[in-house]
Amino acid sequence: MYMEKTFYLETFGCQMNVVDSERIVDLLNGAGYRQVEAAAGAQLILLNTCAVRDKAERKVYGHLGRFKPLKDENPAIILGVGGCVAQQEGERLLEKIGYLDLVFGTHNVHKLPELVRNVEENRTRCHETDFLDRDTRLQLFPARTAGDATTRFVTVMQGCDNFCSYCVVPLVRGRELSRPSGEILSEIGALSESGVKEVTLIGQNVNSYGCKEDGELSFARLLTEVHAIEGIERIRFTTSHPKDLSDELIDCFGTLDKLCHHLHLPVQCGSNRILSAMNRGYTREQYLGKVRRLKEVCPDIRLTSDIIVGFPGETEEDFNDTLTLMEEVRYTDVFSFLYSRRPGTAAADLADDLDPGVRQGRFDRLLALQEETCRQWREGDIGRELSVLVEGESRQGNGQMFGRTTWNRIVNFEGGKDLVGTIVPVRIVKAYRNSHLGELVPGSF
Ligand code: SF4
Repeated sequence: MYMEKTFYLETFGCQMNVVDSERIVDLLNGAGYRQVEAAAGAQLILLNTCAVRDKAERKVYGHLGRFKPLKDENPAIILGVGGCVAQQEGERLLEKIGYLDLVFGTHNVHKLPELVRNVEENRTRCHETDFLDRDTRLQLFPARTAGDATTRFVTVMQGCDNFCSYCVVPLVRGRELSRPSGEILSEIGALSESGVKEVTLIGQNVNSYGCKEDGELSFARLLTEVHAIEGIERIRFTTSHPKDLSDELIDCFGTLDKLCHHLHLPVQCGSNRILSAMNRGYTREQYLGKVRRLKEVCPDIRLTSDIIVGFPGETEEDFNDTLTLMEEVRYTDVFSFLYSRRPGTAAADLADDLDPGVRQGRFDRLLALQEETCRQWREGDIGRELSVLVEGESRQGNGQMFGRTTWNRIVNFEGGKDLVGTIVPVRIVKAYRNSHLGELVPGSF
């Protein structure tokens, strides 16, 4: 009798992992597996992990523990781990977790159906975490179809060569590689034909796109080519490294109408001494100079950032430099993190004698400052009429629709499903921490 095979997938971390997970879904669908929403009853359970934050490995062990009772009950279930923790830990994960079947690294997602089949047929445990060579990686950039989506991520580059001293990404994602522009443009053309209205070009450091490939377009040129694709109405990109944010790219915010007026530009810290210890490759003054230029060419641009609090050796003066930088930039949102030592990174060898209470106290002060700035931004939107690209039914499940402003702010409002994929004017009536509530402007369409 035919038994349908099902899989359950949990994804942690950044947009690169989200894209990898979309790929996993495509690959497993092609191998005859159907995705389900609950682990209980699934034949295959996968975790796509992130190693960027604190205690990532331990958290993976914790998550896996949740599935042990299912595995005890039915040993035929295949339990697998992919992503950055899998890349970093490799075979060690199999050694430490006796009930784990499969470990696959960041360069081996394409092999997943084969690896699963191997476990299934031979009841063997396996791991595949080798980095691939450049030519093979170039063949394997994930290309996506639209499905019924209005917005899509498009991978333009992978890996990172920057080796910021606190970061594991170059160790777990490999060296920087740009995808050929022709391939990117034809993928976006196809997405547009299928109804996609907004693309977000993603990579670990998109601003250095093309720099290391002979004859390749610069990132600014690539954006210009994407802008020319009919049907695409909005363009975003992430993640940007401030040191690679060129004048040519800044100018795009003034010349390309489809480029959304939002930029995530992680500063990490406002002190030159700490920026140098982080190996970030720019000074506070250079960063602020780029912010000023961005605001000149695009006066209503809104910026968001990542900030690390309590890097080894951070003094009160260094921390105050971060606060004054935040006051000057006025980010609309900041993703702030307490510094955590990541094994294998350069900063892991630095003496770190900062008192945990002091570190936490600074973190709380930074949050308080940012919360006040966020409050001012969101309340300033109340009463304004904003253009919203409608993406679908609101996730709050109250029959409302949702979309985003050019600043990437979610807006929920009453409206019909026929609005999906259109840009509509919405008046903001309430501002919550993570979203706005709005009303369609009557008679405007
Ligand atoms: S630019 Fe720095 S923080 Fe960003 S992925 Fe590369 S090494 Fe990590």
